[in-house]
Amino acid sequence: MALSGDYHTHTKYSRRNHGKGTIEEQVKAAVEKGLAQVAITDHGFNQVLYGVRRSDMAKMREEINEAKERYPIEVLQGVEANLISARGDIDIEPSDYEYLDVLLCGYHKLVKGKRKRDFFFIFKNLLISVFHITSRRQRERNTNAYINAMKNYDIDVLTHLNHGCKVDVQKVAKVAKETNTYIELNGKRLGMSDKEIMIAYNEGVKFIIDSDAHSPKRVGDCHLGLEAILRLRIPESAVVNYNSLPTFKADKRRKAKK
Ligand SMILES: [Zn+2]
Ligand SMILES: [Zn+2]
Repeated sequence: MALSGDYHTHTKYSRRNHGKGTIEEQVKAAVEKGLAQVAITDHGFNQVLYGVRRSDMAKMREEINEAKERYPIEVLQGVEANLISARGDIDIEPSDYEYLDVLLCGYHKLVKGKRKRDFFFIFKNLLISVFHITSRRQRERNTNAYINAMKNYDIDVLTHLNHGCKVDVQKVAKVAKETNTYIELNGKRLGMSDKEIMIAYNEGVKFIIDSDAHSPKRVGDCHLGLEAILRLRIPESAVVNYNSLPTFKADKRRKAKK
């Protein structure tokens, strides 16, 4: 089978050794796996412990360009942005767009908000991820945050939806379809139950299957997503990187900035 690319990988640029490999090592691993494309998507800037430094983005671009010359593979630069408020803010500014061939977005613990009251959104979800109980109100709040994020930013992919931040998958999927946002089947954790994956599929969303590799040896390791689509008999036409190449909104983002 032909998984065309892996669009969610972390490198040493996610701080504190959170990602283990260099950009070149990740790219080399992707070539060895036979992929046509790989994206370098370190953690968003507001993740307190692991977030990539904005000041490193230009250097990363240079390393990516060098790797593209050296290896027979298309390498994309991106970031896995964080959802940082109940209003659906994410930690991306228009000035970041030049470095974003692909923009992923997910919920992560320990992020900095923009305003004081963002603390409550972040803190409540932190409690939920510890105690695994989500109130109906918090689920609604999270759902609206994701919906607003998709409407306000040109996000390409929602990563590990429903992991650590519970949402109404049907409502999120409806807007993902409208805004042409792919929903990820993540290689480390699916987040969604089989039932929820089917709810998203029935809303007509497109899935993308990624590894979320934090080391070169895991690049292209997408068996959780691949097994899910086989198990649930989801047709390959619903998966954008299965025998086909996805399209991302990089040009749209850059144009909107001008
Ligand atoms: Zn993540
Ligand atoms: Zn990740």
